[in-house]
Amino acid sequence: MSDSAPRSIHDLGPAALRQELLADGVAGAHAKPFWRALYREPEAADLAAAGFPGPLRRWVESNVGPGKRFYPDAPEVADESVSSDGLTRKFLLRLRDGEMIETVLMRYDGRLTACVSTQAGCAMGCVFCATGQMGFRRHLRPGEIIAQVLLARRVFRRVFPNQRLRNLVLMGMGEPLHNYDAVMAALDTVSDTAGIGIGPSKISISTVGVVPGILRLATEPKPYRLAVSLHGATQSERHALVPVAGKWTLSELMDACRHYGASTGRRIFFEWTLVAGRNDSAETAERLVELLRGIDAHVNLIPLNPTHGFAGAASRAGFAFQQVLRAAGIPATLRQRRGIDVAAGCGQLRQRAVGG
Ligand code: SAH
Ligand code: SF4
Repeated sequence: MSDSAPRSIHDLGPAALRQELLADGVAGAHAKPFWRALYREPEAADLAAAGFPGPLRRWVESNVGPGKRFYPDAPEVADESVSSDGLTRKFLLRLRDGEMIETVLMRYDGRLTACVSTQAGCAMGCVFCATGQMGFRRHLRPGEIIAQVLLARRVFRRVFPNQRLRNLVLMGMGEPLHNYDAVMAALDTVSDTAGIGIGPSKISISTVGVVPGILRLATEPKPYRLAVSLHGATQSERHALVPVAGKWTLSELMDACRHYGASTGRRIFFEWTLVAGRNDSAETAERLVELLRGIDAHVNLIPLNPTHGFAGAASRAGFAFQQVLRAAGIPATLRQRRGIDVAAGCGQLRQRAVGG
Protein backbone atom coordinates (compact mmCIF):
# COMPACT_ATOMS: atom_id res chain seq x y z
CA MET A 1 0.00 0.00 0.00
CA SER A 2 1.27 3.42 -0.82
CA ASP A 3 0.17 6.45 1.12
CA SER A 4 1.21 8.96 -1.53
CA ALA A 5 -1.19 11.68 -2.67
CA PRO A 6 -3.92 10.67 -5.12
CA ARG A 7 -2.98 11.04 -8.79
CA SER A 8 -4.97 11.77 -11.91
CA ILE A 9 -5.84 8.70 -13.96
CA HIS A 10 -5.74 11.00 -17.01
CA ASP A 11 -2.06 11.75 -16.40
CA LEU A 12 -1.24 8.14 -17.27
CA GLY A 13 -0.58 7.03 -20.83
CA PRO A 14 -1.06 3.36 -21.76
CA ALA A 15 2.50 2.41 -20.74
CA ALA A 16 2.27 4.04 -17.30
CA LEU A 17 -1.15 2.51 -16.76
CA ARG A 18 0.25 -0.89 -17.61
CA GLN A 19 2.98 -0.45 -14.99
CA GLU A 20 0.39 0.37 -12.34
CA LEU A 21 -1.70 -2.68 -13.20
CA LEU A 22 1.32 -4.98 -13.26
CA ALA A 23 2.51 -3.66 -9.89
CA ASP A 24 -0.88 -4.69 -8.47
CA GLY A 25 -0.78 -8.13 -10.07
CA VAL A 26 -3.29 -7.34 -12.84
CA ALA A 27 -2.36 -8.55 -16.34
CA GLY A 28 -0.80 -5.80 -18.49
CA ALA A 29 -3.08 -6.79 -21.35
CA HIS A 30 -5.90 -4.97 -19.54
CA ALA A 31 -4.16 -1.61 -19.82
CA LYS A 32 -5.04 -0.69 -23.39
CA PRO A 33 -8.79 -1.57 -23.16
CA PHE A 34 -9.03 0.37 -19.92
CA TRP A 35 -7.21 3.35 -21.40
CA ARG A 36 -9.50 3.23 -24.41
CA ALA A 37 -12.55 3.18 -22.12
CA LEU A 38 -11.29 6.35 -20.42
CA TYR A 39 -11.61 8.26 -23.68
CA ARG A 40 -14.46 6.62 -25.52
CA GLU A 41 -17.41 8.65 -26.69
CA PRO A 42 -19.90 8.86 -25.12
CA GLU A 43 -17.98 8.71 -21.90
CA ALA A 44 -18.66 5.87 -19.49
CA ALA A 45 -20.78 7.25 -16.66
CA ASP A 46 -19.30 4.71 -14.25
CA LEU A 47 -15.94 3.19 -15.14
CA ALA A 48 -16.32 0.35 -12.66
CA ALA A 49 -19.53 -0.71 -14.41
CA ALA A 50 -18.02 -0.48 -17.90
CA GLY A 51 -18.13 -4.23 -18.51
CA PHE A 52 -14.48 -4.96 -17.74
CA PRO A 53 -13.30 -8.48 -16.99
CA GLY A 54 -13.22 -9.35 -13.26
CA PRO A 55 -9.62 -8.51 -12.28
CA LEU A 56 -9.69 -5.13 -14.04
CA ARG A 57 -13.12 -4.28 -12.67
CA ARG A 58 -11.95 -5.02 -9.14
CA TRP A 59 -8.82 -2.94 -9.65
CA VAL A 60 -10.88 0.00 -10.89
CA GLU A 61 -13.36 -0.35 -8.03
CA SER A 62 -10.67 -0.21 -5.40
CA ASN A 63 -8.27 2.26 -7.04
CA VAL A 64 -10.19 4.83 -9.09
CA GLY A 65 -12.60 7.35 -7.63
CA PRO A 66 -12.98 9.95 -4.91
CA GLY A 67 -10.68 9.26 -1.98
CA LYS A 68 -8.86 6.46 -3.83
CA ARG A 69 -5.39 6.30 -5.38
CA PHE A 70 -6.46 7.69 -8.74
CA TYR A 71 -9.09 10.29 -9.51
CA PRO A 72 -10.51 11.22 -12.91
CA ASP A 73 -9.54 14.79 -13.86
CA ALA A 74 -12.85 16.64 -14.02
CA PRO A 75 -12.53 20.35 -13.30
CA GLU A 76 -15.51 22.08 -11.79
CA VAL A 77 -17.33 24.48 -14.11
CA ALA A 78 -17.34 27.72 -12.13
CA ASP A 79 -18.98 29.71 -14.90
CA GLU A 80 -20.21 29.29 -18.45
CA SER A 81 -21.07 32.10 -20.84
CA VAL A 82 -22.43 31.97 -24.36
CA SER A 83 -22.00 34.66 -27.00
CA SER A 84 -25.16 36.21 -28.40
CA ASP A 85 -24.79 34.31 -31.69
CA GLY A 86 -24.50 31.04 -29.76
CA LEU A 87 -21.29 30.06 -31.56
CA THR A 88 -18.79 30.78 -28.79
CA ARG A 89 -18.89 29.39 -25.26
CA LYS A 90 -16.46 30.14 -22.54
CA PHE A 91 -15.95 27.98 -19.49
CA LEU A 92 -14.28 29.18 -16.35
CA LEU A 93 -12.91 26.05 -14.68
CA ARG A 94 -11.78 25.55 -11.12
CA LEU A 95 -8.97 23.02 -10.69
CA ARG A 96 -8.54 20.82 -7.60
CA ASP A 97 -6.21 23.30 -5.92
CA GLY A 98 -8.52 26.23 -6.63
CA GLU A 99 -6.57 27.65 -9.60
CA MET A 100 -8.86 28.95 -12.35
CA ILE A 101 -8.39 28.42 -16.08
CA GLU A 102 -10.54 29.02 -19.14
CA THR A 103 -11.55 26.87 -22.07
CA VAL A 104 -13.32 28.26 -25.12
CA LEU A 105 -15.48 26.36 -27.58
CA MET A 106 -16.05 27.84 -31.02
CA ARG A 107 -18.00 26.96 -34.08
CA TYR A 108 -16.02 28.79 -36.75
CA ASP A 109 -16.41 28.35 -40.52
CA GLY A 110 -18.78 25.50 -39.68
CA ARG A 111 -16.05 23.63 -37.77
CA LEU A 112 -15.94 22.81 -34.09
CA THR A 113 -12.79 23.95 -32.35
CA ALA A 114 -11.72 23.82 -28.72
CA CYS A 115 -9.26 26.37 -27.39
CA VAL A 116 -7.57 25.10 -24.24
CA SER A 117 -5.23 26.45 -21.58
CA THR A 118 -1.82 24.94 -20.87
CA GLN A 119 -0.91 26.93 -17.76
CA ALA A 120 -2.72 28.84 -15.04
CA GLY A 121 -1.54 32.34 -15.89
CA CYS A 122 1.54 32.91 -18.04
CA ALA A 123 5.12 33.98 -17.35
CA MET A 124 5.69 35.74 -20.68
CA GLY A 125 4.07 39.08 -19.84
CA CYS A 126 2.93 40.24 -23.29
CA VAL A 127 1.68 43.75 -22.72
CA PHE A 128 -1.68 43.44 -24.49
CA CYS A 129 -2.60 40.04 -23.06
CA ALA A 130 -4.85 39.74 -20.02
CA THR A 131 -3.31 36.38 -19.09
CA GLY A 132 0.20 37.81 -19.35
CA GLN A 133 -0.75 40.63 -17.05
CA MET A 134 -1.91 38.27 -14.29
CA GLY A 135 1.47 36.54 -14.17
CA PHE A 136 2.42 32.89 -13.83
CA ARG A 137 0.52 30.68 -11.39
CA ARG A 138 1.53 27.13 -12.35
CA HIS A 139 1.88 24.59 -15.17
CA LEU A 140 -1.09 22.34 -15.96
CA ARG A 141 -0.66 18.58 -15.77
CA PRO A 142 -1.44 16.47 -18.87
CA GLY A 143 -4.73 15.33 -17.28
CA GLU A 144 -5.81 18.94 -16.76
CA ILE A 145 -5.21 19.70 -20.43
CA ILE A 146 -6.95 16.50 -21.58
CA ALA A 147 -9.92 17.16 -19.29
CA GLN A 148 -10.59 20.44 -21.11
CA VAL A 149 -10.81 18.56 -24.42
CA LEU A 150 -13.15 15.99 -22.87
CA LEU A 151 -15.35 18.79 -21.56
CA ALA A 152 -15.41 20.43 -25.00
CA ARG A 153 -16.33 17.13 -26.68
CA ARG A 154 -19.15 16.54 -24.18
CA VAL A 155 -20.61 20.04 -24.55
CA PHE A 156 -20.33 20.05 -28.36
CA ARG A 157 -22.09 16.69 -28.43
CA ARG A 158 -25.04 18.26 -26.62
CA VAL A 159 -25.10 21.53 -28.57
CA PHE A 160 -24.16 20.36 -32.09
CA PRO A 161 -25.10 16.66 -32.05
CA ASN A 162 -24.48 16.19 -35.77
CA GLN A 163 -20.89 17.39 -35.70
CA ARG A 164 -17.69 16.18 -34.12
CA LEU A 165 -14.92 18.09 -32.43
CA ARG A 166 -12.03 17.84 -34.86
CA ASN A 167 -9.88 20.86 -34.15
CA LEU A 168 -7.84 21.89 -31.18
CA VAL A 169 -5.86 25.06 -30.59
CA LEU A 170 -3.50 25.65 -27.68
CA MET A 171 -4.32 29.32 -27.50
CA GLY A 172 -6.00 29.65 -24.12
CA MET A 173 -4.12 30.69 -21.02
CA GLY A 174 -0.41 30.04 -20.94
CA GLU A 175 2.60 29.35 -23.14
CA PRO A 176 2.49 25.72 -24.34
CA LEU A 177 6.21 25.44 -25.06
CA HIS A 178 7.02 26.63 -21.52
CA ASN A 179 5.20 23.46 -20.32
CA TYR A 180 6.58 21.24 -23.06
CA ASP A 181 6.51 17.74 -21.55
CA ALA A 182 3.01 17.97 -20.09
CA VAL A 183 1.68 19.43 -23.33
CA MET A 184 3.22 16.66 -25.44
CA ALA A 185 1.95 13.97 -23.07
CA ALA A 186 -1.56 15.45 -23.28
CA LEU A 187 -1.41 15.71 -27.07
CA ASP A 188 -0.33 12.09 -27.34
CA THR A 189 -3.63 11.07 -25.76
CA VAL A 190 -5.69 13.69 -27.59
CA SER A 191 -4.34 12.66 -31.00
CA ASP A 192 -4.25 8.87 -30.49
CA THR A 193 -7.04 7.14 -32.42
CA ALA A 194 -7.62 4.99 -29.33
CA GLY A 195 -7.62 8.17 -27.23
CA ILE A 196 -9.66 11.23 -28.22
CA GLY A 197 -8.72 10.91 -31.88
CA ILE A 198 -8.22 14.50 -33.03
CA GLY A 199 -5.76 14.34 -35.94
CA PRO A 200 -2.31 15.82 -35.14
CA SER A 201 -2.51 18.07 -38.19
CA LYS A 202 -5.72 19.55 -36.69
CA ILE A 203 -3.93 20.50 -33.50
CA SER A 204 -2.27 23.94 -33.40
CA ILE A 205 0.42 24.73 -30.87
CA SER A 206 0.72 28.48 -30.54
CA THR A 207 3.94 29.88 -29.08
CA VAL A 208 5.14 33.36 -28.25
CA GLY A 209 8.52 32.27 -29.63
CA VAL A 210 10.22 29.92 -27.16
CA VAL A 211 13.13 29.06 -29.44
CA PRO A 212 14.34 25.81 -27.77
CA GLY A 213 10.73 24.55 -27.81
CA ILE A 214 10.37 25.24 -31.52
CA LEU A 215 13.59 23.34 -32.23
CA ARG A 216 12.35 20.43 -30.14
CA LEU A 217 8.94 20.47 -31.81
CA ALA A 218 10.71 20.04 -35.14
CA THR A 219 11.82 16.60 -33.94
CA GLU A 220 8.39 15.34 -32.82
CA PRO A 221 7.09 12.43 -34.88
CA LYS A 222 3.52 13.72 -35.03
CA PRO A 223 2.78 16.54 -37.48
CA TYR A 224 1.27 19.08 -35.09
CA ARG A 225 0.78 22.56 -36.50
CA LEU A 226 3.05 25.30 -35.31
CA ALA A 227 1.73 28.82 -34.84
CA VAL A 228 4.19 31.54 -33.89
CA SER A 229 2.95 34.77 -32.32
CA LEU A 230 5.11 37.38 -34.02
CA HIS A 231 3.49 40.83 -33.58
CA GLY A 232 6.55 42.76 -34.70
CA ALA A 233 8.76 42.86 -37.77
CA THR A 234 11.78 44.45 -36.10
CA GLN A 235 13.42 43.53 -32.80
CA SER A 236 12.40 46.81 -31.15
CA GLU A 237 8.82 46.77 -32.44
CA ARG A 238 8.40 43.20 -31.20
CA HIS A 239 10.23 43.69 -27.92
CA ALA A 240 7.91 46.54 -26.96
CA LEU A 241 4.93 44.18 -27.13
CA VAL A 242 6.55 40.85 -26.24
CA PRO A 243 9.08 41.17 -23.37
CA VAL A 244 10.41 37.65 -23.93
CA ALA A 245 11.89 38.89 -27.21
CA GLY A 246 14.69 40.14 -24.93
CA LYS A 247 15.60 36.51 -24.29
CA TRP A 248 15.00 35.03 -27.74
CA THR A 249 15.58 37.74 -30.30
CA LEU A 250 13.65 38.15 -33.51
CA SER A 251 16.57 36.93 -35.60
CA GLU A 252 17.03 33.83 -33.38
CA LEU A 253 13.31 33.18 -33.65
CA MET A 254 13.29 33.48 -37.43
CA ASP A 255 16.31 31.14 -37.64
CA ALA A 256 14.39 28.59 -35.55
CA CYS A 257 11.35 28.96 -37.82
CA ARG A 258 13.51 28.47 -40.91
CA HIS A 259 15.02 25.36 -39.35
CA TYR A 260 11.56 24.05 -38.40
CA GLY A 261 10.22 24.65 -41.89
CA ALA A 262 13.21 23.04 -43.58
CA SER A 263 13.32 19.96 -41.38
CA THR A 264 9.57 19.24 -41.25
CA GLY A 265 8.49 20.55 -44.65
CA ARG A 266 5.47 22.05 -42.91
CA ARG A 267 3.92 25.47 -43.20
CA ILE A 268 4.17 27.79 -40.21
CA PHE A 269 1.25 29.95 -39.11
CA PHE A 270 2.24 33.37 -37.85
CA GLU A 271 -0.13 35.14 -35.50
CA TRP A 272 -0.13 38.90 -35.62
CA THR A 273 -2.26 40.83 -33.17
CA LEU A 274 -2.92 44.23 -34.70
CA VAL A 275 -2.37 47.02 -32.17
CA ALA A 276 -3.22 50.56 -33.28
CA GLY A 277 -0.15 52.69 -33.91
CA ARG A 278 2.26 49.93 -32.85
CA ASN A 279 2.36 47.29 -35.59
CA ASP A 280 -0.48 48.02 -38.01
CA SER A 281 1.14 50.24 -40.66
CA ALA A 282 1.69 49.37 -44.31
CA GLU A 283 5.47 49.89 -43.80
CA THR A 284 5.43 47.25 -41.07
CA ALA A 285 3.58 44.92 -43.43
CA GLU A 286 6.33 45.49 -46.03
CA ARG A 287 8.99 44.63 -43.43
CA LEU A 288 7.06 41.50 -42.50
CA VAL A 289 7.11 40.41 -46.14
CA GLU A 290 10.93 40.68 -46.08
CA LEU A 291 11.15 38.82 -42.78
CA LEU A 292 9.12 35.88 -44.06
CA ARG A 293 11.03 35.52 -47.29
CA GLY A 294 11.89 31.87 -47.93
CA ILE A 295 9.50 30.54 -45.27
CA ASP A 296 6.30 28.67 -46.14
CA ALA A 297 4.12 30.97 -44.06
CA HIS A 298 0.50 31.80 -43.48
CA VAL A 299 -0.26 34.96 -41.50
CA ASN A 300 -3.29 35.22 -39.23
CA LEU A 301 -4.07 38.83 -38.50
CA ILE A 302 -5.97 39.15 -35.24
CA PRO A 303 -7.73 42.39 -34.36
CA LEU A 304 -6.72 43.27 -30.79
CA ASN A 305 -9.41 42.38 -28.31
CA PRO A 306 -9.81 45.21 -25.88
CA THR A 307 -7.65 45.00 -22.77
CA HIS A 308 -6.76 47.99 -20.61
CA GLY A 309 -4.57 50.60 -22.24
CA PHE A 310 -4.40 49.20 -25.78
CA ALA A 311 -6.55 49.98 -28.77
CA GLY A 312 -7.26 47.69 -31.65
CA ALA A 313 -6.21 48.68 -35.15
CA ALA A 314 -8.88 50.21 -37.35
CA SER A 315 -10.41 47.58 -39.60
CA ARG A 316 -9.21 49.63 -42.59
CA ALA A 317 -5.63 49.29 -41.38
CA GLY A 318 -6.07 45.54 -40.93
CA PHE A 319 -7.42 45.19 -44.41
CA ALA A 320 -4.58 47.24 -45.92
CA PHE A 321 -2.02 45.18 -43.97
CA GLN A 322 -3.55 41.99 -45.36
CA GLN A 323 -3.44 43.39 -48.90
CA VAL A 324 0.31 44.07 -48.67
CA LEU A 325 0.97 40.47 -47.61
CA ARG A 326 -1.27 39.00 -50.25
CA ALA A 327 0.24 41.13 -52.99
CA ALA A 328 3.61 39.62 -52.04
CA GLY A 329 2.15 36.13 -52.33
CA ILE A 330 1.86 35.46 -48.60
CA PRO A 331 -1.50 33.93 -47.65
CA ALA A 332 -3.05 36.08 -44.95
CA THR A 333 -6.37 35.92 -43.18
CA LEU A 334 -7.94 38.67 -41.13
CA ARG A 335 -9.64 36.91 -38.27
CA GLN A 336 -13.14 37.90 -37.33
CA ARG A 337 -13.79 39.06 -33.83
CA ARG A 338 -15.33 36.20 -31.96
CA GLY A 339 -17.21 36.11 -28.72
CA ILE A 340 -16.18 39.57 -27.60
CA ASP A 341 -19.44 39.88 -25.66
CA VAL A 342 -18.46 37.06 -23.35
CA ALA A 343 -14.83 38.22 -23.10
CA ALA A 344 -13.79 34.94 -24.68
CA GLY A 345 -11.63 36.47 -27.35
CA CYS A 346 -7.93 35.68 -27.39
CA GLY A 347 -6.07 37.45 -24.63
CA GLN A 348 -9.16 38.05 -22.56
CA LEU A 349 -8.92 34.77 -20.78
CA ARG A 350 -8.08 35.69 -17.26
CA GLN A 351 -8.71 34.56 -13.83
CA ARG A 352 -11.78 36.20 -12.42
CA ALA A 353 -12.97 34.60 -9.25
CA VAL A 354 -9.60 34.66 -7.46
CA GLY A 355 -9.95 32.78 -4.20
CA GLY A 356 -13.58 31.97 -5.02
N1 SAH B 1 1.09 31.85 -25.34
C1 SAH B 1 0.77 31.44 -26.65
C2 SAH B 1 -0.65 30.93 -26.81
C3 SAH B 1 -1.71 31.64 -26.05
S1 SAH B 1 -2.03 33.30 -26.55
C4 SAH B 1 1.04 32.57 -27.64
O1 SAH B 1 1.26 33.70 -27.21
O2 SAH B 1 1.02 32.30 -28.85
C5 SAH B 1 -2.91 32.99 -28.09
C6 SAH B 1 -2.92 34.18 -29.03
O3 SAH B 1 -3.73 35.23 -28.51
C7 SAH B 1 -1.55 34.76 -29.29
O4 SAH B 1 -1.31 34.90 -30.67
C8 SAH B 1 -1.66 36.10 -28.60
O5 SAH B 1 -0.79 37.03 -29.16
C9 SAH B 1 -3.09 36.45 -28.82
N2 SAH B 1 -3.57 37.52 -27.94
C10 SAH B 1 -3.20 37.78 -26.67
N3 SAH B 1 -3.85 38.87 -26.20
C11 SAH B 1 -4.64 39.31 -27.21
C12 SAH B 1 -5.57 40.39 -27.32
N4 SAH B 1 -5.83 41.22 -26.32
N5 SAH B 1 -6.21 40.52 -28.50
C13 SAH B 1 -5.98 39.66 -29.52
N6 SAH B 1 -5.13 38.64 -29.46
C14 SAH B 1 -4.46 38.46 -28.31
FE1 SF4 C 1 1.45 34.36 -22.48
FE2 SF4 C 1 0.61 34.09 -25.03
FE3 SF4 C 1 -0.46 35.94 -23.38
FE4 SF4 C 1 2.01 36.27 -24.27
S1 SF4 C 1 0.14 36.24 -25.51
S2 SF4 C 1 1.33 36.57 -22.15
S3 SF4 C 1 2.74 34.20 -24.28
S4 SF4 C 1 -0.59 33.75 -23.14
